[in-house]
Amino acid sequence: MTGSALYQTFSRAPLAFDRGEGTWLITVDGERYLDFAGGIAVNSLGHAHPHLVQALNEQAGKLWHTSNLYQIPGQERLAERLVAATFADKVFFTNSGAEALECAIKTARRYHFVKGQPDRFRILTFQGAFHGRTLATIAAGGQEKYLEGFGPKVEGFDQVGWDDIEAVRAAITPETAAILIEPVQGEGGLRPASAQYLSQLRALCDEHGLLLIFDEVQCGIGRTGKLFAYEWSGVAPDLMAIAKGIGGGFPVGACLATEDAASGMTPGVHGTTFGGNPLAMAVGNAVLDVVLEDGFLDEVTRKANLMKQGLAEIADTFPEVVEGIRGSGLMLGLKCRMPNGTVNAALRDHKFLAVPAGDNVVRLLPPLTVSDEEIRDGLGRIRAAAEELHATHGTAA
Ligand SMILES: *Cc1c(COP(=O)(O)O)cnc(C)c1O
Repeated sequence: MTGSALYQTFSRAPLAFDRGEGTWLITVDGERYLDFAGGIAVNSLGHAHPHLVQALNEQAGKLWHTSNLYQIPGQERLAERLVAATFADKVFFTNSGAEALECAIKTARRYHFVKGQPDRFRILTFQGAFHGRTLATIAAGGQEKYLEGFGPKVEGFDQVGWDDIEAVRAAITPETAAILIEPVQGEGGLRPASAQYLSQLRALCDEHGLLLIFDEVQCGIGRTGKLFAYEWSGVAPDLMAIAKGIGGGFPVGACLATEDAASGMTPGVHGTTFGGNPLAMAVGNAVLDVVLEDGFLDEVTRKANLMKQGLAEIADTFPEVVEGIRGSGLMLGLKCRMPNGTVNAALRDHKFLAVPAGDNVVRLLPPLTVSDEEIRDGLGRIRAAAEELHATHGTAA
């Protein structure tokens, strides 16, 4: 046996944290790390946010779990608030992003089934997509490295190039049920879809009777400076998967739907044991309390601009380390010229946490509550790391 009793599926950094305070993580040895990894866009309000701690503690002393055999008032409340804030009329709660996507996929297929078109079950997805690690969502993501060795790929997913509307048009067949896209690709390397592209997809869906599904598991809940990234485009989907930021660290996901899109989801056709339990709902409601406060999202945009400007200066100064800046809001990425793993490790040496992504990008996903001072501190650490990388690896550009 090789050391740990855990599956060897993660290549973990040699760091173990004992506690967190806002944008900081503190190791068991008392070393402080500036956390711009944010648990991969999960810790939307940082660590140990007092309002979330209070909401969870209060609920923990009252009731943890009842199952969905009974009414759950916190679910009704969170669903009503999500409906009030979005395109949606209906919500189904899950424990994770992948489960929220599974629900969206099932909802889209059932929609056509109950309308008498059971052969319409295929879903178009995009190169660079990431939708989770279940059998259906690895098929949706279409990445060979996640599919290999897991048996036949789940049938019904067709992938087209990113930002290629003609390819989408050409890929639509009488069996197509829906188009699934991340308004800002996360794992794929922080690529935002343009407003024009999303509206072209909407038009194609309307023309062919397809459902438009947005995956806002990573880019939702204030990350881009709007509650949901699609708001920037003015294009509304029929279905949307969310997770990550809505729980602020507690496992919560949800599938949002219009009344029409959800019309096939009748009693008994779908379910979950844990999804939407009272603990999760207490935290989800508490996250919304903060994110929906007057001015909170404007602050996200202001801070994002501050960060983006600082990053652009670093990219200008060290082009042989950082080729450019990607992303939107507080979902920014360094497109690296040298391997992103090298850049990420150098940042970690400066006690700064970030997350590698596809397309040789290092993702920066600080909590939405990050302060100006912490942004400046972070930029200083990134600059110091870039300077070192420049000295040890760099060649004059
Ligand atoms: C993380 C992620 C998922 C999967 O969420 P899990 O909670 O890990 O199942 C799906 N889609 C996107 C865009 C994500 O970033």
